[in-house]
Amino acid sequence: MEYSLGIDIGGTKIAAGIMNREGSVLIKKTFSTPKDKKDAIVQLLENIIFSLSETAKMEGKKLVGIGIGTAGQIDFEKGKVLSGTANIKDWNDVPLRDILSKKTDLPIFIENDVNVLALAEQQLGVGRNVENLICLALGTGVGGGVITGGHLLRGAWGGGAELGHITVDMNGPLCNCGFQGCVETYSSGTGIARMMREEIKSYPESEGNSELLYYQKHPEEVTSRLVFELMSAGNVVAEKVVNTAINALSFAIVSMIHTFNPSLIILGGGVLHEGEWFIQKVRKRVGELGIRSLVDPVEIKGTQLGNDAGLIGAAIQPWVYGVDVGVK
Ligand SMILES: [Zn+2]
Repeated sequence: MEYSLGIDIGGTKIAAGIMNREGSVLIKKTFSTPKDKKDAIVQLLENIIFSLSETAKMEGKKLVGIGIGTAGQIDFEKGKVLSGTANIKDWNDVPLRDILSKKTDLPIFIENDVNVLALAEQQLGVGRNVENLICLALGTGVGGGVITGGHLLRGAWGGGAELGHITVDMNGPLCNCGFQGCVETYSSGTGIARMMREEIKSYPESEGNSELLYYQKHPEEVTSRLVFELMSAGNVVAEKVVNTAINALSFAIVSMIHTFNPSLIILGGGVLHEGEWFIQKVRKRVGELGIRSLVDPVEIKGTQLGNDAGLIGAAIQPWVYGVDVGVK
């Protein structure tokens, strides 16, 4: 049997493992993402590749390649991290494949983290046998991956499908990316917390909700999780914020449906830990908007592969791309 070495590079942790074509992760290790310099991340990746290659060799497992998924804008053909993300310091302008190729003979594939999530779900998860789908990860930001005609949409060099930066309000708040009113500023965990802080700031003392008055003095303690907790407890301000997040997401999804004509939208990421009710609300709102012939047939579902989806998507690349890009 053949195996692949996968590495999933996130803002707080790096997960690495050895996986077979069916998506069974046999060996998995996690590391903290180095916080200082890109050299430290590269060094860690070299160590991971060395030690997992040795483990595979000792256990008689044949590796066919290495797949890496990372946040940021990735030039897939060149295997280069172009511009990174606010979550991983100094992670930009890194010719990663060239550097790592000096340490291994295995073919290496490097792809954006949400693109590999879409790939994982399309190959082994909820999107199996679906040719046209969109995957959205709602976490610190909103990441996107588009599969159209069975292939990942990359654009000219791999920067396509930045779906979190579809604007839903041209007069909206300034986004990290420099654009305005991006869906990420409303529907990410960070966006939900931001909207709650703004609501609380103008919350009149006379209304007398002691919890909200407490957070008025401690805005730094407001997180998206807190907003969901307050909402479950019946807080109407929190409910308003969550409804805005769902509404913004639904408008963005309808724009995506109009653009890409998918049959499936897959929702994942930390915000989705809230569960099925969140997806149901998005489904309902999306169903009220847009062009009927395009919107009505679209299914909206949660991810299926869970916590290992990023790792599985990273690791599956050698099999998915191996033939297309001429692996020897
Ligand atoms: Zn943006």
